[in-house]
Amino acid sequence: MIRPEIVVYMDNNATTKVAPEVLEVMMPYLQDYYGNPSSMHRFGGQVEAAVTEARRKVATLLGADPEEIVFTSCGTESDSTAIFSALQSFPDKRHIVTTRVEHPAVKNLCENLDTLTGHKHRVTRLMVDADGTLDLQKYEEALADDTAIVSVMWANNETGVIFPIAEMARMARARGIPFHTDAVQAVGKIPINLKELDVDFLSLSGHKLHGPKGVGVLYVRRGTPFVPFLVGGHQEKGRRGGTENVASIVGLGRACELAAANMAEENSRVKALRDKLEQGLLSSIPHAILNGHKIDRLPNTSNISFEYVEGEAILLHMDQYNICASSGSACTSGSLEPSHVLRAMGVPFTAAHGSIRYSLSIYNTEEEIDFVLEKMPPIIAGLRQMSPFWKADA
Ligand SMILES: *Cc1c(COP(=O)(O)O)cnc(C)c1O
Repeated sequence: MIRPEIVVYMDNNATTKVAPEVLEVMMPYLQDYYGNPSSMHRFGGQVEAAVTEARRKVATLLGADPEEIVFTSCGTESDSTAIFSALQSFPDKRHIVTTRVEHPAVKNLCENLDTLTGHKHRVTRLMVDADGTLDLQKYEEALADDTAIVSVMWANNETGVIFPIAEMARMARARGIPFHTDAVQAVGKIPINLKELDVDFLSLSGHKLHGPKGVGVLYVRRGTPFVPFLVGGHQEKGRRGGTENVASIVGLGRACELAAANMAEENSRVKALRDKLEQGLLSSIPHAILNGHKIDRLPNTSNISFEYVEGEAILLHMDQYNICASSGSACTSGSLEPSHVLRAMGVPFTAAHGSIRYSLSIYNTEEEIDFVLEKMPPIIAGLRQMSPFWKADA
């Protein structure tokens, strides 16, 4: 087994380390306080009080009311709940507006809606330009009288590009269309105040902000028509059946509290580390290109294409040094498909295949950045020596 203490972990958009402060508050609810929050006895009642407290903490981070917070099992469930809820609330509306760069939780759902619901849907997938940003004029034109919901991510998991959610939500509200945002990558990294926004649904996930895996939240604005996705007991005021994942909910509450406290550091120290890594890689490695908008971007994410090499090969070499990151390609059915996000941005084939996403967190150090900056140039140079594309082009 690889010893975690020597791993250089730069894959925080895939998942994050559970903060020690989070684990600490979770443990009692896995050991001693195992009651069911729905029980009538005081033993269960104190567990319910812990869930209530966690709900308040999540709401505080988002600028929401605790009553607007619905605990789910993950970001994916929150996304599905929001979209299916709108489709069931407005059965005669069969149009959805989304983007080409959504996480699979939204992208694959929208692609399979006809099969999943037995109804025909019209899905508008908005294009992005070369730096991954949206054209708001095209967005406005896409909104139609039969649009049941808009679902647009707040920040992209691959490039970190941030979309103008405030403006987009306002435009949807003006047309009376419910607005959902998958904010899984944004929550904890950038400030969010739902009181000032026309957002009706927002998804987040515990394990992307140093909370545990297997817990998420769907924010549902008060008064928004809602149909539950999981039907069962009366948990979550009838909005999500199933006994609460108490320890994880308590952990997520603590993670939200820490996120509020750590956001300044994320925006200064983490961003400085990210910028050092990014500038170092771009200046020391020829034919390296930054993917995504330079400014409208999460402070922790850097997606760089190393032309003429395969992302998977780069990752394997990085893995020899226990450096963890992600590539933009997904190995599907034996063929290496470049990421749908980079393809939508029009990143050329030779660059899209060699893209690496570095995603940092408050746990990264300057020494780790230096280590990666030392190891990357020889890895890329070595792989290029073996690349037929490199020899032909360079
Ligand atoms: C990780 C992620 C999800 C899925 O969250 P899970 O809790 O893993 O289901 C959805 N959207 C985005 C943008 C993500 O990064």
